[in-house]
Amino acid sequence: MTSIPLFHKVLAEHGLTLRRSTPQILQINVGLLCNLACKHCHLEAGPRRTECMTSETREAIVAYADAYRFDLIDITGGAPEMNPELAQLLEDIAPLTNNIMVRTNLVALDHEERRDLMDLLTRLRVTVVASLPSPRKAQTDKVRGAQTHDTSITVLQSLNKRGYGQDGSGLELYLVSNPAGAFLPAEQSGLERRFKKELSRNFGITFNKLLVLPNAPLGRFRTWLEASGNLTPYLQSLVSAFNPGALCGVMCRETVSIAWDGTLYDCDFNQAAHRPMVGGLHVRDMVLPSEGQTIATGDHCFACTAGSGFT
Ligand code: SF4
Repeated sequence: MTSIPLFHKVLAEHGLTLRRSTPQILQINVGLLCNLACKHCHLEAGPRRTECMTSETREAIVAYADAYRFDLIDITGGAPEMNPELAQLLEDIAPLTNNIMVRTNLVALDHEERRDLMDLLTRLRVTVVASLPSPRKAQTDKVRGAQTHDTSITVLQSLNKRGYGQDGSGLELYLVSNPAGAFLPAEQSGLERRFKKELSRNFGITFNKLLVLPNAPLGRFRTWLEASGNLTPYLQSLVSAFNPGALCGVMCRETVSIAWDGTLYDCDFNQAAHRPMVGGLHVRDMVLPSEGQTIATGDHCFACTAGSGFT
């Protein structure tokens, strides 16, 4: 078996190091409960997960956001919509930052009781970052389950009606697409043109931007890679696509990533890899990572530096 080099050794070969800079982004993972169980999920989120941010942890996170004032607060899960603390969290952090982003799988927004949540996202002008594997039904349903594409389309149309993704509305709607297998994503601008053309022509949907991200070799995706004999070839493809220029854009430099239980990480992928931030900190410690601090890394980091990296 060909060995995979250590990430920090590859960086050293290029004369690079990875260290923290001034934190600008606060990422909050409100829990691993999700209505779906997607094949590529690096956190292995799903309907049977019980890990959810409590009201006590929410209050500690709000105090942290108030003390340090981040440029962007990024809320993720699981399906954040399934945590009953989400609405209060949004209300509490809205005065503390100019930019809030909520990630959604779209399907979780398609519940009668979540209409109020849609109203809240619109009122607070929260950017919606929605994952959609493909503009085509067969491909989306293959990754996410039967009927998920139809539901996603209904929710996107509802967001468009509220002004999301419409020119001049200021309500930003981003789509995110990951490859459906053990390969690197297609070039972003070409895929964005295809998504825009097909979603507009077939469903009348508009959106601002498509983000095309490689799958991190973690969680459910890593389990599948191992079971299918694809782990080493996939890691090799990520190593071969190493782009030194992508290192400046990796999220861990400027992000404090808080898990559902309040533990601090350098990034969401390190949550999945169970590699907490140096010092083993909890949000209640009220400590901001310092400039130059070491970042925990692993072979999953090669997904961040492959090709154009995570943008
Ligand atoms: S996986 Fe996390 S720690 Fe590694 S390069 Fe990406 S953002 Fe940084």
